[in-house]
Amino acid sequence: MSNESKKYLLNEKEIPEAWYNVITDMPTKPRPMLHPGTKQPLKAEDLYPIFSEEASRQELNTTDRWIEIPEEVRDMYKIWRPTPLVRARGLERALDTPAHIYFKNESVSPVGSHKLNSAIPQAYYCKQEGTTNITTETGAGQWGAALSLAASHFGLALAVYMVKVSYNQKPYRRSIMQTYGAEVIASPSMSTKAGRKIITENPNYQGSLGTAISEAVELATSTPHCKYTLGSVLNHVSLHQTVIGLEAEKQMAMAGEYPDIVIGCFGGGSNFSGISFPFMRHNFSGERSTRFIAAEPESCPKLTRGIFQYDFGDEAGYTPLIPMCTLGHNFAPANIHAGGLRYHGAGAIVSQLIEDKLMEAVDIPQLETFAAATLFAQSEGIIPAPESSHAIAAAIREAKRLRESGESKVILFNLSGHGLIDMASYDRYFAGDLANYQVTDEQVRENTKDLEKLM
Ligand SMILES: *Cc1c(COP(=O)(O)O)cnc(C)c1O
Repeated sequence: MSNESKKYLLNEKEIPEAWYNVITDMPTKPRPMLHPGTKQPLKAEDLYPIFSEEASRQELNTTDRWIEIPEEVRDMYKIWRPTPLVRARGLERALDTPAHIYFKNESVSPVGSHKLNSAIPQAYYCKQEGTTNITTETGAGQWGAALSLAASHFGLALAVYMVKVSYNQKPYRRSIMQTYGAEVIASPSMSTKAGRKIITENPNYQGSLGTAISEAVELATSTPHCKYTLGSVLNHVSLHQTVIGLEAEKQMAMAGEYPDIVIGCFGGGSNFSGISFPFMRHNFSGERSTRFIAAEPESCPKLTRGIFQYDFGDEAGYTPLIPMCTLGHNFAPANIHAGGLRYHGAGAIVSQLIEDKLMEAVDIPQLETFAAATLFAQSEGIIPAPESSHAIAAAIREAKRLRESGESKVILFNLSGHGLIDMASYDRYFAGDLANYQVTDEQVRENTKDLEKLM
């Protein structure tokens, strides 16, 4: 077991004072997001009807390398940050690998995932600017849970559109949101035009993040004093998550090591960006040559098999056009249990980094992720979220490769959340009810063939 695993802890004074804006250091900047109507590069003002003004400005900020974290936000971070960095000796031993494996434990937040890192500043900026109501979508319910806590702290009313398959698979996440005082609606719903259209066309549709985003954006833009917030994909969300990597950098130094490989699971990119970007700046400056690996599900392989093209962030096409690695905004992923990874595209920054080969991606079958999760639980004592298990599975693949080659490299992965509210998924795994879902080339072609016409 894990009694040998060593924790590296920081003092709360060492919570970062600024987030790191990776765009300022990228050799090729991401192409601009485009206004969905005019197809012109987006201006911050174009986003003001949807997001808080500060989040809108951060979204398009390509000049400030460091962006100050407000004191009120740092104060709330203190509830659970800095999070531990752990040397996973139990897992190393179970794998009999010469690799040194570390993980950053973001599961210790009150809602059990990294999502709170961005929920707090987003709710804070809305409150500062006089917003009374906020709305959002949620897949597995992690983002909704995080935002519910943040909204309740800042006294905002919150309506969450929850992807229908998760609403039914993960009733406890729904109860968590309700406990914090949020209203939760299964998506697609009859409460919006976007939802009604989808239900009419396909009454059994179990929902997707893309659809839920359309519903939430529609509510925000049609309701006074109501703003929308997003838990992933966008630049400002990745920015907020850099607290993960900035802390991990200090903690790796305490351990006297520096990662050769950094791994994060990948839905829209926020936790991967959070752990990776601060380390990436040392690659950009030429000091280091760390490998960065995003681990995505085999059933939703936008980084490994999608195309790089302007696409919408949502099903109905309400969002700006984003230059992304995408499977097409109408892509309906299989109902895998890593609900937070069922999203059709990657954010603009990560998509450019993949295009420029400054990072890598792997796609992992569902059964391999649950096998990895079980091994991790038995060797380190923590039951991981099905999403995070993709990062664990990718770390295990690398550690096994190092066992073959005999090299002792340092692997760091992000444990984005715990799985204690996902035990129904583990039940299905143990009962032998889970399957792998491959996407065919034909499906990818079919889903992306019309994207050029958007331009
Ligand atoms: C939402 C979520 C993810 C996926 O989202 P990213 O933005 O890609 O990080 C991964 N892990 C957990 C625990 C999540 O809640």
